[in-house]
Amino acid sequence: PAPATGGEPSPWLAGLAATFEARRPGLNALDQRAGDGDIGTNLDNGLQAAVRRAPGPEADLAADLAAVAGAFLDDVGGSSGPLFGLVFQAVAAAVEGADDPSAALVTGLREGQEAVTRVGGAVPGDRTLLDALAPAVAGQRLDREAVAAAVAGARETARLVARRGRASYLGDRALGVADPGAVAVALLLSALLEHLDG
Ligand code: ADP
Ligand code: MG
Ligand code: MG
Repeated sequence: PAPATGGEPSPWLAGLAATFEARRPGLNALDQRAGDGDIGTNLDNGLQAAVRRAPGPEADLAADLAAVAGAFLDDVGGSSGPLFGLVFQAVAAAVEGADDPSAALVTGLREGQEAVTRVGGAVPGDRTLLDALAPAVAGQRLDREAVAAAVAGARETARLVARRGRASYLGDRALGVADPGAVAVALLLSALLEHLDG
């Protein structure tokens, strides 16, 4: 890959990349059970590309998220590249210049949810990343309850038969294993909450 354009990441972006690097094998293992085993690699590669594009060590959240969105939309394939790219893009736009970042994050995540549905046709209950995202944006703020709702939603995907994505080819063979895209959304929301609290 091309060397950094300048980008030393902010501590938050570096932390996000480190989280997904650590989760890469576990997310791949979940995707192995219900797909093609690459989601951890896709997300890790996307965040490494985002770090190379990082706007700088002092970057605000909106600038970091815009860099992540660009990296996912340009450099990451599979389903997670474009779908997470759309979520990052919507959240970046919503938090830009926002007075109340906690409310803006929920607004952006809700817009991201709508974009994912527009592009991918899934609704909550289809065993996709939306099963973590939708319950988290039911409230007005990104707070601990919202993150807990995402974690619970991700866990509950283990009881769902997929109707979208590769896992839908498996019928009930993925039962008992959580959807990795939903698990990844819960990790992401937890990292966003840390930004607010930090
Ligand atoms: P691929 O299946 O192309 O290898 P990834 O492994 O990168 O894609 O991502 C798989 C994840 O993408 C799934 O776990 C699921 O959460 C999500 N996903 C797949 N299709 C859709 C869709 N149509 N709508 C929303 N999320 C989806
Ligand atoms: Mg996959
Ligand atoms: Mg794939």
